[in-house]
Amino acid sequence: MTVTKDRIFLSPPHMSGQELEFIKEAFASNYIAPVGPQLTRFEKEFCRLTGFAHCLGVSSGTAAIHLALRLMGVGPGDVVIASTLTFIGSVTPVTFVGADLHFVDCDPATWNMDPALLREAINTVHASGKRVGAVIPTDLYGQCSDYDALRTICNNHQIPLLIDAAEAVGATYKGNHAGRGGDAAVYSFNGNKIITTSGGGMLASDNLDFIEEARRLSQQARDDAPHYEHTTIGYNYRMSNVAAAIGLGQMTVVDSFVTRLREIYRFYQKEFESLPGFSLMPEAEYGESTHWLTVMLVDETSGTDPETIRLALEAENIESRPVWKPMHLQPVFTNVPCTGGPVSEKLFEQGLCLPSGSALTEADLERIVRVIKSVAR
Ligand SMILES: *Cc1c(COP(=O)(O)O)cnc(C)c1O
Repeated sequence: MTVTKDRIFLSPPHMSGQELEFIKEAFASNYIAPVGPQLTRFEKEFCRLTGFAHCLGVSSGTAAIHLALRLMGVGPGDVVIASTLTFIGSVTPVTFVGADLHFVDCDPATWNMDPALLREAINTVHASGKRVGAVIPTDLYGQCSDYDALRTICNNHQIPLLIDAAEAVGATYKGNHAGRGGDAAVYSFNGNKIITTSGGGMLASDNLDFIEEARRLSQQARDDAPHYEHTTIGYNYRMSNVAAAIGLGQMTVVDSFVTRLREIYRFYQKEFESLPGFSLMPEAEYGESTHWLTVMLVDETSGTDPETIRLALEAENIESRPVWKPMHLQPVFTNVPCTGGPVSEKLFEQGLCLPSGSALTEADLERIVRVIKSVAR
């Protein structure tokens, strides 16, 4: 007889139980639209969480990046410098605005954009006679990039800094919330992220004009007239008020989710510290990661490898994933230049993202660790 064990997912949605109440409010007001009181309130609460003066709810994190690049004036002929170790949604909007990409490798101490390599990449782009339209560092797996170092370099060249904090809701950099320090920041509420609206994103900035113009572009760029008047091309990117109602429910638990994600990281850390060849993604001193996903490195001295572990977990109905495949290794970006590369290539080879959902129980965690230890011997 086979015993079917419940599947443990990598990072499944985790509802607080409040969401349906907020959705009921949305239904009662009949704002089943990309506008409404729940959306306005969700944006306000997100401003309070992040410390940004203005937030705009949109249909996805990818849409938020697209809007930001457009408003930063990035277009054909420009180059956007971005982290190579990231999810593709971070960089596809660069192609939407017709600009070129240039990737940058990460710092092994943080796994985020290496400031020294950013400086080198800017020089390379400038030497080719092109303009750098924006820099997009990703706050990987919930850990902030070194904003001060990146900011100084961008300021020297007057390049806008757009922080991709899609995975970093709740993280801090020198006491401030993830994303603070960029000209603008984006967050994602996709189903697998720290909090979810089923799908959605947020664009945040202290610049009111920037957010107001993003709001206009996100609603088909309608001019101020009683009829439909358009002087520019926009998008249909606004967040649904019903999705925002889910977001309000999630905002009631975001702090406890982040606390739990950090506990999960510590649990794995304690379990693996005595295993030779095993280590976890390092924590930068300048801030506190959310550990959206706990990522493990397995090197040659371990006697095993990440793919063997992944398959062993899968055989026990447990989901795990390799680290993001670097963008400069993606077939779709074969012609895109990259400054550096070996650091993220090694992390891709040796890394494995472990189940990290905030709803994981102690029994789940024990089950996961038992499988990994059985492979590690
Ligand atoms: C999830 C994610 C995005 C895209 O967000 P969506 O809401 O899925 O469009 C962008 N960048 C990073 C680093 C992400 O993890």
